[in-house]
Amino acid sequence: MAKKRRPKSIVKSKPKMTARPQAVFPDYYPKFRCIGSECEDSCCIAGWKIPIDRVTWLRYQACQHETLAPLLRSHVILGKENSPQSEQTYAYIKMQADLRCPFLQPDMLCMIQKELGSEALSDTCATYPRFHNLFGAQHEYSLGISCPEAARQVLLHPEPIGLIMAAPDADLGARDFINFRVPQIGISDPDQISIMNDLRSLMLYILQFRELTLGARMMLLGNLLDEVDRVISDPGFKNIAEIFPVLSSFTTLFAEPSFIETQFEQIPIDLPRKLLAITAFLAEFLHHADPRFAECLNAGVNGLVGNEASRLGVGADLLARYHNAYDSYYLPYFRDKGYILENYLVNDVFSQLFPFIHGSFLDLYRKMVFNLSIIQVFMVGMAGHYQGLTDMRVVQLIQSFARRTAHDSSYLGKLTEAVASKEAPSFAEVMWMLKER
Ligand code: SF4
Repeated sequence: MAKKRRPKSIVKSKPKMTARPQAVFPDYYPKFRCIGSECEDSCCIAGWKIPIDRVTWLRYQACQHETLAPLLRSHVILGKENSPQSEQTYAYIKMQADLRCPFLQPDMLCMIQKELGSEALSDTCATYPRFHNLFGAQHEYSLGISCPEAARQVLLHPEPIGLIMAAPDADLGARDFINFRVPQIGISDPDQISIMNDLRSLMLYILQFRELTLGARMMLLGNLLDEVDRVISDPGFKNIAEIFPVLSSFTTLFAEPSFIETQFEQIPIDLPRKLLAITAFLAEFLHHADPRFAECLNAGVNGLVGNEASRLGVGADLLARYHNAYDSYYLPYFRDKGYILENYLVNDVFSQLFPFIHGSFLDLYRKMVFNLSIIQVFMVGMAGHYQGLTDMRVVQLIQSFARRTAHDSSYLGKLTEAVASKEAPSFAEVMWMLKER
């Protein structure tokens, strides 16, 4: 019988005995540097509504710089009454009609940073694309993949992403700016937080368990969340320690990967339904896509249905094209690059404190399955169009998709409507979307 393996702690290297505070971050994190004027998809031309924190807004109001002061007063606008205003979202930068930040100079560098130094940047501008989260008392840092350079560091990382513990990021620590925190409300007992961290360790272990296909790992993750959700939704639930038996039962499964893979194989495949569900709203994406994302979308559409976006959703020879692109171009590339989608999921779980914020376990799991399925289908289409894939194209798709969907998740509601049951929603009912071929 195979030897039992158990998930290790979420952190690979244990903290050194030191009085200095420690933080947890993925091993890719220290390598990130903004590439500024070299960036192919600068965050300063994304057209985002950039929030400005109250301290920075007050500083900008008091600015006496001859050129900058009038610009700061005219382009940094107080939050509207009908939009939520807080210390962190006190005001915002009004973008130009061409979606560029008004402070971006022709050399693609920031005028505020150049004239006043990086300490004059708002929390949002100074920290993007980094996340600074608080899980209990534990400070955590990570990167968001809507930035192309961050996406390269995160995705093109052949070894499983490791978590390390070291001194906090001096830049972010100095700002005391937290993106997400757990608990937002409710559990604050360190012992209970520690058990929630055990659940995170197990989820990451599952996603990085390379003896299974990625689809089987995602199925296992859904089964785990389903069972944990049952425990904590029970009217008699009192303490998070009640999930221990669930965690223990899952750790025994790693000894028999073939058993899990067989379970995954038993999930019925329905590629026509998957392709129709995903391509049905591609046209909507096309209407609001920046050029970088539109390039991927057009290639994906072309690879799946030919060069007429208007034919989306009607089937045609969609399935035959998908199969051909999958077998001839997608699979040969991903045979050795399976780590890219694994890293995408691992980064999402860690940086978004999955599944403890932003929604229910079920909604968050569905979102993860849908996003993975959309990326995978697009990628097959792109592979067909270009007759192959490259790291550059794959990063372009995942990064520009992350950027397009960062502030608009309306497509998730449409997908849920199309594939999920209203009467008895469950984790299992979306797992067929994980089947690729
Ligand atoms: S998107 Fe990333 S690399 Fe590009 S300018 Fe912004 S932070 Fe720098």
